Amino acid sequence: AKARGQGEHEFYTSAIGLESRQHTRLLHELQQSFGSDALFLAFQPQLSLESGRVTGVEALLRWRRADGSFVPPDQFIPVAERSGIITLLGNWVMRTALGALAQLDHAGFSDIRMAINVSAAQLRDRSYAEQLGLALQESGVAPGLLELEITESVAVMGMARVSALLAEVKALGVEIAIDDFGTGFSSLSYLDQLPVDRLKIDRSFIALLDSCRPGARIAEMIVPLGHCLGIAVLAEGVETECQAERLRAMGCNEAQGYLYARPMPLDALLQWLQTYRT
Ligand code: C2E
Ligand code: CA
Ligand code: CA
Ligand code: CA
Repeated sequence: AKARGQGEHEFYTSAIGLESRQHTRLLHELQQSFGSDALFLAFQPQLSLESGRVTGVEALLRWRRADGSFVPPDQFIPVAERSGIITLLGNWVMRTALGALAQLDHAGFSDIRMAINVSAAQLRDRSYAEQLGLALQESGVAPGLLELEITESVAVMGMARVSALLAEVKALGVEIAIDDFGTGFSSLSYLDQLPVDRLKIDRSFIALLDSCRPGARIAEMIVPLGHCLGIAVLAEGVETECQAERLRAMGCNEAQGYLYARPMPLDALLQWLQTYRT
């Protein structure tokens, strides 16, 4: 038993060693990609389920390596978070998304909202709201067109801190969405106390809508919950007409997913919007 225990220990240490070597390499590569066109944003449309009109787009980070392969954000964002370069990266996302928002406005799509993902690690930076204010000023776009997508994981910062930060963000005129809603452990009283404009029902609950499994009821419960608190509800990861139909019947406000469009670079988005509009 003892020998086995030691073997396991060795296994774990070498697995951790391998993991950290991979992280170091990835981090180094990421730093090198910074400022080049290897890092770019892809935009995915969000639509009103009632009118079918495009209401917003979500900016999603993309990283293309020299060999043409893509590293998924789920893989490199945690690395960036642990190393602290998420602050730099997040700032770049903020500014690039605001630039794209200005271009949408210029192309005549002046009522489309831009949502950006903000990790809890970025929000721990005391100057976050100040930097956001500066970036908004420089971009000249209407602050009400920008939305921050935060997850329930911000709760680790403590209610007082989160509520002060979100108040600062709201004072700038920026909207706030709770991403992956239903997957975290947030207390419902938080939701009532925080200035939240939109709930994004996590994709995992939307996938269940095609079946009659019990989980399908979660989405059904989130919609009236949001509405009761005066919060709009958006379904993410909508892939089938059946899901869209059920969400529409529930009164869910908006939807986003492969059924409508995949995330795409800005020029492709502008083209997509032109054809979609006509
Ligand atoms: P998320 O914010 O929940 O983003 C939604 C993810 O679902 C995106 O994956 C999107 O491409 C994907 N998706 C959209 N529609 C569908 C669909 O119909 N079916 C399926 N199967 N997937 C769909 P992506 O782009 O790989 O991003 C993964 C995660 O990485 C994001 O999850 C977000 O947590 C994080 N992320 C992406 N960009 C950023 C960023 O700029 N900053 C931060 N902090 N995190 C980011
Ligand atoms: Ca998101
Ligand atoms: Ca999400
Ligand atoms: Ca997610």
